[in-house]
Amino acid sequence: MKKLLFLFDTDAVPSVFDTVVGYDGGADHVTGYANVAPDNVGALVDGAVFTRGGKDKQNTAIFVGGGNMGKGEALFEKIKKHFFGPFRVSVMLDSNGSNTTAAAGVALLAKAKSLKGQKAVVLAGTGPVGMRAAAFLAQEGAEVTITSRTKDRAEEAAKALEKRFGVKVKGVAGGTDEERSTAVKDANIVYAAGAIGVQLLPASAWKDNPNIELLADVNAQPPLGIEGIEATDKGKNYGGKLAFGALGIGGLKLKLHRACVGKLFESSEGVFDAEEIYALAKEMA
Ligand code: NAP
Repeated sequence: MKKLLFLFDTDAVPSVFDTVVGYDGGADHVTGYANVAPDNVGALVDGAVFTRGGKDKQNTAIFVGGGNMGKGEALFEKIKKHFFGPFRVSVMLDSNGSNTTAAAGVALLAKAKSLKGQKAVVLAGTGPVGMRAAAFLAQEGAEVTITSRTKDRAEEAAKALEKRFGVKVKGVAGGTDEERSTAVKDANIVYAAGAIGVQLLPASAWKDNPNIELLADVNAQPPLGIEGIEATDKGKNYGGKLAFGALGIGGLKLKLHRACVGKLFESSEGVFDAEEIYALAKEMA
């Protein structure tokens, strides 16, 4: 029986990246649907859950993607609510690669050093990747601060994190190099999660800072989020500070994404969101 992965994308065009990784993760066929939303997903879910019975059902799975985390989360919730009794299939949420990227980055940091009690700053932590990274760092016992170009947005993201994950995170303004340098002054861990091609931290803000021990940056396109590290760094030692660049993190992210897709086909009851994906990232790191 063929393994079918249905990619429900909240964007106008289904993601090529998620399609390729769907195949590489073990699907025999990946079908992408665009503009999927809570009000039009019902019939798509019916098609997935009413077509195969018993053990055969585990050969059908759903992946929720797209560029908007809020839309992805709402869609994911609607899909889970639509399931009943045995009429369900495994489902994964990874809007913008948020869960897999954040989980890979934090799992590598946690492997390098215990994060418990450490002060962590997620630069530009209001996006899909930054918010998930902040949640994982907080769940590891770190004291987490997120920055944004506007304090209101940082605080709004902190509230959303508390609601979703039950973690307390502080939101501060970080619109300039000076503000971001001040934000990381006492930090032990810096996780740069800014938009692609945006530098957030000058080298002068971390190279001689005696507190900073771990650096992670998920932006692969120059200029990198953290000046002075390399995208390929995977635990590279810069005078006692270990750095993880976007490609260093991206290797584990891809393996993790593929592994999650593979697991979708192991039962019809799998639910892969932040918690499940981070747990797997820690096993794989
Ligand atoms: P995003 O939503 O595009 O951006 C994250 C945050 O960056 C935004 O919330 C915004 O925060 C801030 N920002 C945007 N433009 C800015 C600017 N010009 N100056 C300063 N801050 C700016 O990012 P994402 O989807 O969460 O992804 C985060 C990063 O991960 C991206 O660089 C992406 O390319 C990368 N990524 C890497 C992988 C991998 O495998 N390595 C996979 C997926 C994504 P405020 O508006 O609150 O300031």
